[in-house]
Amino acid sequence: MPYGIVPSMDPKARVAQRLLQLREEFAQGLHERLDQIGDLWCAIRDGTAPPENIEELKRSVHSMAGNAGTFGYPGLGTLARMLNDLFDTIAPQRELLEPETRAQVERLLCELQNEAAAAQPTGDETSAILGVASPPPSRGRTIYIVEDDAALAEDLSLHLGYYGYKTRVFPTIVEAREQIIACPPALVILDLVFDEGPDVGLKLAREICHGVTEHIAVLILSVRGDFEARLQAVRANVSSYLIKPVDMATLIERVDELCCVGENEPYRVLIVDDSRPLASFYAAVLEHAGLHTRVVNDPLQAIDIMGEFEPELVLMDVYMPGCNGAELAAVIRQQEAYHSTPIVFLSSEIDPDRQLAAMRGGGDDFLTKPISAVHLVSSCISRLMRAREMRRLITRDSLTRLLNHSSGTDRLDAELARAHREGLPVAVAMLDIDLFKRVNDRYGHPTGDRVIKTVARLLLERLRKSDSPCRYGGEEFLVILPATGKEAAANLVDRIRRDFSGIRHQHRGAYFFASLSAGVSDSTSAGNPSALIDRADAALYRAKLAGRNRVELG
Ligand code: GH3
Ligand code: MG
Ligand code: MG
Repeated sequence: MPYGIVPSMDPKARVAQRLLQLREEFAQGLHERLDQIGDLWCAIRDGTAPPENIEELKRSVHSMAGNAGTFGYPGLGTLARMLNDLFDTIAPQRELLEPETRAQVERLLCELQNEAAAAQPTGDETSAILGVASPPPSRGRTIYIVEDDAALAEDLSLHLGYYGYKTRVFPTIVEAREQIIACPPALVILDLVFDEGPDVGLKLAREICHGVTEHIAVLILSVRGDFEARLQAVRANVSSYLIKPVDMATLIERVDELCCVGENEPYRVLIVDDSRPLASFYAAVLEHAGLHTRVVNDPLQAIDIMGEFEPELVLMDVYMPGCNGAELAAVIRQQEAYHSTPIVFLSSEIDPDRQLAAMRGGGDDFLTKPISAVHLVSSCISRLMRAREMRRLITRDSLTRLLNHSSGTDRLDAELARAHREGLPVAVAMLDIDLFKRVNDRYGHPTGDRVIKTVARLLLERLRKSDSPCRYGGEEFLVILPATGKEAAANLVDRIRRDFSGIRHQHRGAYFFASLSAGVSDSTSAGNPSALIDRADAALYRAKLAGRNRVELG
């Protein structure tokens, strides 16, 4: 290869390679770790080490019980667990030195050594992981519009463009088909009737949905609303069907659903485990399933990292040096922000009473090591889905999915505090739909609701990830823009205002346009949250007085 192009390794192969490496590391360190356990035991037994060292011994044996099974040595795992149980059942250390107990410990240690010498790793975690479904590859936000009505195609492109979609228009089936195969989009919006023939649209839909390429959604947009056409579309396996003339708000909503907009942010999982190889193993498994992970090996650092990573689930070992899992869970629960963050213990502890005791501090569930890759992923994902949904219900407005009033003001407090620490300004904009009462009176409340949703969707599209749009009241929105001055914020809001005024709304075949006004201020003009909102509100009032459909600085 003259230009030295190195083929990039596919993610599955990378995870498989990482796991093989972890298994090898475990195998290489195995004898040394067993020797350490043996030495520690002899020192305690002979009195050359202080009796407190029994705790370290227990931890090492416990960790061996958890690791060995995971890395393909189930026999070793079972023996280590027996030794672990033996240590656990003997509460006072004196009993450990009873001749009978000593003999039992030494027999198990000897069996462990023998097993390690003879054992070949079994079970292939690599293939188990590859059996875990990984998320479909994202095709981004490119949409092909297959439509022979040039004016409609242009109108669709314009409106989809407002919401961040890239479009390409194909006036014939032949051209579209070629391009879909060569460069698959996320979605095809497809007309049914073409000069090329009455059935060519459906034929293409069938081809796309039954195999030309995977993961392309098809949305039919047709004048035909008859049962036969709809049935044919169902049989072709198309994702969605809309009738012309199309209501843009409905179309955008469907397109967002089909392209998974707003749902593609990966779940965040914090893994707290003092065993580096195990933590890396869990991280590799979860990453392969499309989750984001952060590993903490020292439990004392977990809280700091939580503040920065904002995990949606914490997966935690129980027995760790410095601070055990139950204690760490209790410390996490002391903080209001983490009251509802699920904490799942993952430990080789199998005694139900001890599991319950560990959970009393604030854990939600207990998984036992060794755990299969598929089980780990599905346990985490089902909890993550529920936790995210619960959080959404509490903090978000149901119509627009933006932050609700109280979460919006909480966010403003937090952003102002941060801005104060970092010495950066925070801009705030108050937006209000113009003459909205008239929209409701003329077109009805449901149509009014759709206009409100359109503003919300446009805000989500145009703002940065760090900005927070909130539904402050009925048709009023608060936008918080960290690290931004009011002039820059006003420019951005003005572009949103301009584009919103170009969006065509529809009610029973009639079209109408709406507009919004905004007031913008920033933290250099007012330091506390309510004064800042008041200034933006006063500027909004001036924008209304000056004729609406404009942005004023305050
Ligand atoms: P201005 O340009 O001065 O803001 O005029 P306006 O008509 O928009 O202002 P006004 O505050 O008088 O009216 C707001 C209307 O918004 C009144 C209320 O019925 C309506 N509204 C509030 N919440 C909702 C909602 O969730 N859905 C719908 N459809 N309408 C709502
Ligand atoms: Mg209004
Ligand atoms: Mg109002």
